[in-house]
Amino acid sequence: MSYAKEFRIKPGTKINLGKIDAGYQGGYDNEEAVSAELGNYSQRLTELQALMYAENKHSLLIVLQAMDGGGKDGTIHHVMAAMNPQGCSVVGFKVPTAEELAHDYLWRIHKMTPGKGHITVFNRSHYEDVLVVRVHNLVSEEIWSKRYNEINEFERELANSGTTIVKFFLHIDKEEQLKRFRDRLDEPDKQWKISDSDYTEREYWDEYQRAYTEALSKCSFNYAPWYVIPANHKWFRDLAVSQILVETLEGLKMKYPEPTVDLLAIKQRYHAEVAEESGLAAVELMAENEQPKEKKVKKKGKKKKKKK
Ligand code: AMP
Ligand code: MG
Repeated sequence: MSYAKEFRIKPGTKINLGKIDAGYQGGYDNEEAVSAELGNYSQRLTELQALMYAENKHSLLIVLQAMDGGGKDGTIHHVMAAMNPQGCSVVGFKVPTAEELAHDYLWRIHKMTPGKGHITVFNRSHYEDVLVVRVHNLVSEEIWSKRYNEINEFERELANSGTTIVKFFLHIDKEEQLKRFRDRLDEPDKQWKISDSDYTEREYWDEYQRAYTEALSKCSFNYAPWYVIPANHKWFRDLAVSQILVETLEGLKMKYPEPTVDLLAIKQRYHAEVAEESGLAAVELMAENEQPKEKKVKKKGKKKKKKK
């Protein structure tokens, strides 16, 4: 099953979030049923990130959006656990600071996008500027309504410059949100997350769903697709996100760069003992003799120079 195909919003489609089952679990019974598969995807993600870092050609931007309690933090924890911190980062976007508000809304976003070889996860993003901003009339409709096109242009420019973009909306339903808020009350390590605003924002649930519907429908393109991930079950959410990331990264057809030095020469010059011990020296010498003449002459020349 390709979740990338199943959950991707096709360009130009108007979605209906109310009709997408947040409790979908892909035919699996429970967490145990996916644990081996999840482990494989994690392992593959580790390999692909190492490859991306070494190749230093592509970058990956992962955008995460969800209602409060939707599981952004948990997803980041799960996905990032597979990655080498050297080469990836997470950026959270909160209520804009005075300095950020003094600039255009993409200013704070653009400077945090990943450079070549890097992966960046956005925990909230420029989409807040057509979500919370729209729901609470923080700017006029005349302003926010232009932002869909502006966001599309911005993302297109990133994609044209070698950034692969994947955007996940972690879709939970209203009952699941309340359950998660309630669970936090009983879990000492989650209590710090509880805020009044979570409950007051919940009253705007329908407005948020409308704002999400429009953003996801207007801003999903092949160069920057939105995926609606059924996220009531955390294990299914992690499975779907991991699989989509693996498929996306594999699609880049990345390759480790060719060595920039003559490996054989390096081995013989600096690792002669090791080579001899392991009986490699003779084999390598033979291999060297089989190399084209040009290369041999070059090496002999180098050796003579060293003797002087
Ligand atoms: P959290 O992610 O739970 O730490 O909360 C961050 C808060 O910042 C959320 O309530 C967001 O709605 C809010 N936020 C993020 N971006 C913006 C924005 N551009 N304008 C207004 N509020 C924002
Ligand atoms: Mg929150």
